[in-house]
Amino acid sequence: MESQNQNTRHSVTLLWSGGWDGTFRLLQLCQNDITIQPVYVTDSDRSSTEIEKQRIDEILKICRERFPAEIRDVTFYDKNWILETCKDEQISSSFRHLRKTYNLGSQYEWFALLTRYLDQKMECGVVHQYHGKVEEAIDHEGTMELIQGDFLPGRYHVLPKEDQTSAYDVFGNLIFPIIRLTKKDEENIARDNGWMDIMNLSWFCHTPIHGEPCGVCGPCEDAMNTGMEWRLPAAAKRRYKYRKLIRFCKRIKNRILRTRKTV
Ligand SMILES: [Zn+2]
Repeated sequence: MESQNQNTRHSVTLLWSGGWDGTFRLLQLCQNDITIQPVYVTDSDRSSTEIEKQRIDEILKICRERFPAEIRDVTFYDKNWILETCKDEQISSSFRHLRKTYNLGSQYEWFALLTRYLDQKMECGVVHQYHGKVEEAIDHEGTMELIQGDFLPGRYHVLPKEDQTSAYDVFGNLIFPIIRLTKKDEENIARDNGWMDIMNLSWFCHTPIHGEPCGVCGPCEDAMNTGMEWRLPAAAKRRYKYRKLIRFCKRIKNRILRTRKTV
């Protein structure tokens, strides 16, 4: 009987880097009798990868002890490997168009190429945000629809919009299960369910300083703008006020370092 159970058990692949939204989705999925395969696309340009991996280990350990779902070990893919191995010019050209028009993050090209190469649908923890880039790109150039006859409720996917396929090319293999929620909704649901100890282990800053969020990078700015400022320490909040000046100084410093290397 057990093996039959194993065979009929549903499985979900989740793109997860240990961040707030992905961790929230992991917790929702953990409540079901399913198998979860987390996938993390690593970016060697980010200094936060090691902290993220530590947090992932801590979160997985608690979830496995506390919840019924079976969570497999994380499968890691490197973004450079994806760009080399999973080439697809139609996806990349549609991505360049969406990036130029909606300032879409580069991770969506990696996700699109990987899911197409593996021929695998993956859940992606994008939430509703005022002027959310993913939502704007899909609204204008695709159609977001609830998946019919799905084994889990409330999951959306992207279809072409008449003859426009750019959003479908990039997001067609992604499933959006929390696109109708805000970060605040996630926090409220997590509090109601007693998940906050786990949510607080999630990581968001791309350029931590002494192991703490920086207050200057994009995700720290997002946290300040989406009611999550309580997650930043006082020093990060001070830096946030001067983030534009700090970013400008960083750019100048990097330029000088690059020039020195080439001389
Ligand atoms: Zn940061």
